[in-house]
Amino acid sequence: MSTDDSTHTDDPLAALHTDEWEAEMEELLEETDHDTELGIEMAKDAQRLVAGQIDEEEFHAKYHEAVIDEFGVDDRPIDDAIDTVKEAGGDAAAALEAFEDDDGTDRRDAMKKFGVGAAALSLAGWATADAMDDEPQDQAAVAAAQEDDEDDLQWGMVIDLDKCDGCLACVVACEQENGTGDGENWMYVFAYEEEDQDDMNYLVRTCQMCSDAPCEKVCPTTARHTRSSDGLVLTDYDVCIGCRYCQVACPYGVNYFQWGEPETPMDEIDDNHTHDKRGQWVDSRPPRGVMGKCTMCPSRQDGNMGDDMVGTTACEDACSMDAIHFGNMEDPDSDPNQYLEQVREERASANELQDDDADEWADRPDHTASTFRLLEEIGTKPNVVFVGNEPSSDAEQVEGPVSYEDVGQVDNRKEALDDGTFAGGVTE
Ligand code: SF4
Ligand code: SF4
Ligand code: SF4
Repeated sequence: MSTDDSTHTDDPLAALHTDEWEAEMEELLEETDHDTELGIEMAKDAQRLVAGQIDEEEFHAKYHEAVIDEFGVDDRPIDDAIDTVKEAGGDAAAALEAFEDDDGTDRRDAMKKFGVGAAALSLAGWATADAMDDEPQDQAAVAAAQEDDEDDLQWGMVIDLDKCDGCLACVVACEQENGTGDGENWMYVFAYEEEDQDDMNYLVRTCQMCSDAPCEKVCPTTARHTRSSDGLVLTDYDVCIGCRYCQVACPYGVNYFQWGEPETPMDEIDDNHTHDKRGQWVDSRPPRGVMGKCTMCPSRQDGNMGDDMVGTTACEDACSMDAIHFGNMEDPDSDPNQYLEQVREERASANELQDDDADEWADRPDHTASTFRLLEEIGTKPNVVFVGNEPSSDAEQVEGPVSYEDVGQVDNRKEALDDGTFAGGVTE
């Protein structure tokens, strides 16, 4: 099958929708019980949707019947539905009441009647914590994190690639905190070289916590969803049916399917580290047959692990190079935004130095300091900002100073690439 119609040179998706990518995705989906062609076509159109090439209604209508036929349900979100929930104060129950007819028409029918679409029917994913939570844990800590306006909380990261030394401490810390198995690298550090440089470079890759996440748009069950209270893109492990459509639709290759029984049994996982403040099972490693990925540590953000853990992640804590800065991307005073400010000031003063003294400029460690978001041009609105240079299309992965084997990990990159994992332009 060749459906590559994104060949216009101005199309930012042209580099993604290659025949090679499609062949890899076909191989991946053929391992599931679900429709391969539907998964690939939906993934491509979900990426076109976030790139602004098609609209939400068109996307939803195009696949509605096929999704019902394949899964028996179509709970994919559409923006109108999410807005409706937000207008109801984030209270899913209240939103449903608003749609219900006086005569008690079934909620599903009522939602359709009001033009919201079947996509909105599983609303738990968007309900705010406050609305869904009977007994929120450490409410004071959560409130402190959210401070004045809950709508202004969007967790994310600034990662300074110029500071990273490839030690893999973040990789180990994430694995230990989440009980992920060998090769399930929710955090992955690529070491690479550019053609015209001798220096080794690093790309430190987590979930990008996209504000417009294509992975969410293809999920037939709403297992993959964005928490309205803080913008975390999570997977409800109780709801995921393991179709792997999200894995194909994600342009960053950060999803890892849990094939077998997890290496870490449930009784070895802290009770405070599984369910979030809404009571949904979204944290630590997934069970068998369910999709996992970096979560940005919701148990910490919800205060389940103590007030002092709110606003932190395990990978950030482990980084002795101060390369990872987690926090509220909407708050100019947060750690990541203050760090970016500091980098910009240093760059400005370095530019002055460059005028005065070219040698001193060249010696500065941050002399290349630029910032970027991965694949920003395709409209995913990632909430991870990198300081440093973006890998070019000629970047080649090399052995880092510390191997995954050295730290008791398995480097699953080859297998991950076979599954279509994005390497940020880094090739073997
Ligand atoms: S694998 Fe799970 S989370 Fe991903 S699209 Fe399928 S049901 Fe949704
Ligand atoms: S990077 Fe994360 S949020 Fe963005 S599409 Fe991939 S899995 Fe979804
Ligand atoms: S933010 Fe949390 S889940 Fe994501 S890579 Fe870091 S430790 Fe792992």
